[in-house]
Amino acid sequence: MTSFTAGIGDKYELVVGLEVHAQLSTLSKAFSPDSAAFGAGPNEHISAISLGHPGTLPKLNKKAVEYAVKMGLACNCTINLRNTFARKNYFYADLPKGYQITQDQMPICLGGSVLVRLAEGTKNIAIHHIHLEEDAGKSMHDQHHADSLIDLNRAGVPLIEIVTEPDMRSSEEAGQFLTEIRKLVRYLDVCDGNMEEGSMRCDANISVRLRGQTTYGNRCEVKNLNSIRNVQRAIEHEFERQVNIIENGGHIDQNTLNFNADTGETSVLRSKEMANDYRYFPEPDLTPLALTKEYLNTIQSSMPVLPNALYAKYTEQLGLSDYDASVITADKDVALYFEALIAKTDNYKSAVNWLMGAVKSYLNDSGVAIGDFTLKPGTLAGLIHLVDSGKVNNTVAAQKLFPGLIKNSDKNAAQLATEMNLLISADTNDVDRFIQDALAKYPDKVIEYQKGKKGVLGLFMGEIMKSSKGKIDPQKTNQLLIKELEKSESQ
Ligand code: ADP
Ligand code: MG
Repeated sequence: MTSFTAGIGDKYELVVGLEVHAQLSTLSKAFSPDSAAFGAGPNEHISAISLGHPGTLPKLNKKAVEYAVKMGLACNCTINLRNTFARKNYFYADLPKGYQITQDQMPICLGGSVLVRLAEGTKNIAIHHIHLEEDAGKSMHDQHHADSLIDLNRAGVPLIEIVTEPDMRSSEEAGQFLTEIRKLVRYLDVCDGNMEEGSMRCDANISVRLRGQTTYGNRCEVKNLNSIRNVQRAIEHEFERQVNIIENGGHIDQNTLNFNADTGETSVLRSKEMANDYRYFPEPDLTPLALTKEYLNTIQSSMPVLPNALYAKYTEQLGLSDYDASVITADKDVALYFEALIAKTDNYKSAVNWLMGAVKSYLNDSGVAIGDFTLKPGTLAGLIHLVDSGKVNNTVAAQKLFPGLIKNSDKNAAQLATEMNLLISADTNDVDRFIQDALAKYPDKVIEYQKGKKGVLGLFMGEIMKSSKGKIDPQKTNQLLIKELEKSESQ
C-alpha cells in the first residue's frame, strides 16, 4: 500500500456533502400529540399513533412547519408554498409503521446557502434542500444480555434534514458549516443543537478526485456522526483511505459506512447492492400542505437577529476585531447579553473585555449560565462607566466591585462602590503621602532606579496601591511617582 503523504493531498481533491438531521424542539411530535421531550423513561411518550396502530391518522404539527420555515429563511432558501409528504418504506424494529413520513418530491425549502468563515476567507456552502420528517425510535443492544430493547419515545419526533450540495473541500469547511448550522438552530430556538445527545446528527458523503477533474468520484456515506470533531475525523480518514485505494489501482464502491470513534476508522455498514429500495410514494393520509405568502411574511418578521448580522454590526459599526465579533456571536445568550450591555455603554472594547474576561471566568468557575447571571448588563455598564471616568480603578473594580455586585444584584455600581468605600477619593496630598512613604520604605530601590533600573517602578506602584487600598488613580499616581523619583535623582 502506498502510504499517505502531503503530496497526495496536492494531487487529489476532497469533496464533501453533508446531511444534517436536527430534532425540532416542539412540545409534541410531528404527527401526534405525544410529548416530544427528551429524557423520559422508556416508552412513556407513546400513543396509538406513534405506535402505528391500524386506523390511526397523522395530523401535522404546525410548530414543526414554522420551525422548518424559520431555518429555511435563515439559510436563504426558497420556501415551497405547496408541500407534499411521502412514505419512505423500510422494515426496522424501531419503525413501528414500517415507513417513515418524510418529504421527497416537494420539500419545504429549496436552495439557499450558509456563509462560513475559514482561515483563508469566507465561503458560501450551497444547500440543496431542507425537508421535514419524523424520527424513528431507538433500538438498544446493550441493555439486556440476550435481547435488543426498543424505546419508542423518539418515534415521531419532528426533524428537519438539511442537505448540502457537495460543496465542501476540507474537514475544516465541514466543521465550520456544522458550527454555523448549530449556531443558527440555537439562535432560532428550533433545536437545542446538542450533537452528543443526538438532537443534531450528521451523515457525511465523501469522495475524492484528481485536482482539475470536473466530474465527481464515487462517494461513500458515513452514517450518524455525533460530534463535529468526529465528522472531521471521519472525513480525514476517508480521504486518506479512498486516495490510497485509487493510488493502488483500486476503485471506490458507493458504500454506506460506520465510523468507530475509538479507532478513528470507517467500516462497511452496507454495500450498494444491499441498499434499501425505499419505494417512496405520496403519503395518502396527509393532504398537501399549502403555505401562503402572508404566513411566510409573519414568520420573517418574527425572526430574531442572526449571528452573521451581529458579526457585521460588531466589525463594521462598532469597530471590534474579527476575533471579538466571532467569540461574542458564537453563543446566542452571550450575544444577547452583549447587545443589552452596549445599549448602556459605548465603550464597546471595554464591554467585550469585561464580558470575555471577568464575566466569563466567573460563569465558568461557578457553573452558572449567562442567562441566569444575576449581574444585569445595565449594572455592568455602570461599573465600566465608573472605571472610564476615573472614579474606581480597574483592579479594584475587578477584584472588589464586580464580585460585590454579583452578590448585591439589587444595587447599582456607583451605590455599591460608595458603600464599599472603593471610590478614588485620595486627593493630591494623600497621593504624595503614599508616594513618600513608599520611597522611604525602599531607599535602596530608589538608588537602583536612579542607576537606570526603571523596572522598580512596579514595586513602588504595588506598594502605593496597597497602602491606598487602590483608591487612587493609577495613571496620575504613576506620573507623580516618576516625577518624584526624578526629582530626587537631580538632587
Ligand atoms: P441520495 O439521494 O442517494 O441521498 P443525493 O444526491 O441526494 O443522494 O446526495 C446526498 C448527499 O450526498 C448530498 O449532501 C450531496 O451533496 C452529497 N453528494 C452527492 N454526490 C457526492 C459526491 N460525489 N461526493 C461527495 N458528496 C456527494
Ligand atoms: Mg441521502
